[in-house]
Amino acid sequence: MFTIFKMKKIYYVIACSLLMMSCDILNKPLASSHQIAPKNKLTRSAIDLVSLSEDRIKVRVQPAPIYKEVATFYIPETVPGTYSDDDYGKFIDSVAAYGTFGKKLKVTKTSDNTWDIKNASNLDYIDYYVNDTYDVEAEHTIFSPAGTNFKENEQFMLNLHGILGYFKDQEEMPYYVDINRPETMEATTSLPRFADSLYVAQDFGNTGITDTYKGNRYFDIVDNPIMYNVPNKEVFTIDDITIELSVYSPTGTVKASSLRPNIERMMKAQKNYLGDFNATDHYTILLYFTTGEADDAQDLGALEHHTSTVVVLPEAMPQENLDAAMVDVVSHEFFHIVTPLNLHATQIHKFKYNDPEMSMHLWMYEGITEYFAQHFQVQQGLVTPEDFYNTLVQKISNAKGYDDAMSFTKMSTNILEEPYASNYGNVYEKGALIGMCLDILMRKNSDGERGVLDLMKELTYQYGPHRPFEDSNLIPQITQLTYPEAVSYTHLTLPTKRIV
Ligand SMILES: [Zn+2]
Repeated sequence: MFTIFKMKKIYYVIACSLLMMSCDILNKPLASSHQIAPKNKLTRSAIDLVSLSEDRIKVRVQPAPIYKEVATFYIPETVPGTYSDDDYGKFIDSVAAYGTFGKKLKVTKTSDNTWDIKNASNLDYIDYYVNDTYDVEAEHTIFSPAGTNFKENEQFMLNLHGILGYFKDQEEMPYYVDINRPETMEATTSLPRFADSLYVAQDFGNTGITDTYKGNRYFDIVDNPIMYNVPNKEVFTIDDITIELSVYSPTGTVKASSLRPNIERMMKAQKNYLGDFNATDHYTILLYFTTGEADDAQDLGALEHHTSTVVVLPEAMPQENLDAAMVDVVSHEFFHIVTPLNLHATQIHKFKYNDPEMSMHLWMYEGITEYFAQHFQVQQGLVTPEDFYNTLVQKISNAKGYDDAMSFTKMSTNILEEPYASNYGNVYEKGALIGMCLDILMRKNSDGERGVLDLMKELTYQYGPHRPFEDSNLIPQITQLTYPEAVSYTHLTLPTKRIV
């Protein structure tokens, strides 16, 4: 994740929409002639982007059979990379459950993000509506690049964790998504397409065209946002990576083709910087330009995923500033392929969307990533050494605005709560400086042979995307792989003594 700043929220939007919803939808199934599809050990879902109702989209989720009296349906409370407790369930309404032969089952909302369904062994599917987050940003804390936008026939930002949920004990099962879309719009996503429609075309809003996707587990649904818009896209390759850049510009003035040269140059430089680090063969950039008005996205920045990123920037930005912002923001997100995506703790690997536990190593996930995002620019000649030093001086100065005595590891573990949450921004300031210090010490002790990028590569080879580390093992491991000075440094800067 990378935040530039939050746009000033001028207007206060009255929180009344949920109360004003008409009640009749509560009592109607979304489709009249549901045929019971064969159920396997998978979740099926359908999203209708063609017929919106009061700016909401309708959704259906069909779980694998549940052999229990009560089924629990969850919408995430938080998702990886946001380090914030946001309750995406608050945007879900009119949850209705149906059993065999369309019989209605009792649904009880038990928290902002959970629903219980009685008589679950008879459960066939649930229907509900989803409200989007961009037009009511004054009412919630969801970071715009993790939020949703539904603009009929124009643009849909589908961060699927805000739309699709999961049933208890079924997070690891395959998850199919059918999306009924208008003919004029196309999708950009890293989520794999599946050839045959499984669900929508049968009986769920089949007025448009159906795109079908498959996640191997619910995590893939969270990790692969989809943007639908009128095509404004560039596809290009850098070495062995295919990059897709899709742009939504509300006035239509910003073209993907005008942004491509700058992004191509930057990502080529990143590839050079990473050298033999082999992470992905495709990468998707979903770029949303906001008007900045009260009814549009307010947070500028981006959120990382394994093979994609969602970026939000203001459309009014002059081209030169836009190019510079794209370099800072997109390069940061792309470097996340190193960490946390290929090097992370158990808490991230087995992410608990509704009972989150945070890892203690934000200094690495965000700090080293941000250090790379600045250092590669000078190393690859995109900026002058003076520019680079100025950026670091700025970070030293910005870091002073946070609690300097606060342990970074303790802050990280407790980042969802105060007083730690309000010090989060320091991961991009002091966190990056920690990365720089480690780099300097490693270079000094190896006569310039090894730096922090080498350390990160060695750690990703040892662990990788499918093998998380235990939080408490990381610093001893770094100690082993580095030099005595770096060791004493890590003990000083990561005050393990204070957190024991
Ligand atoms: Zn980040």
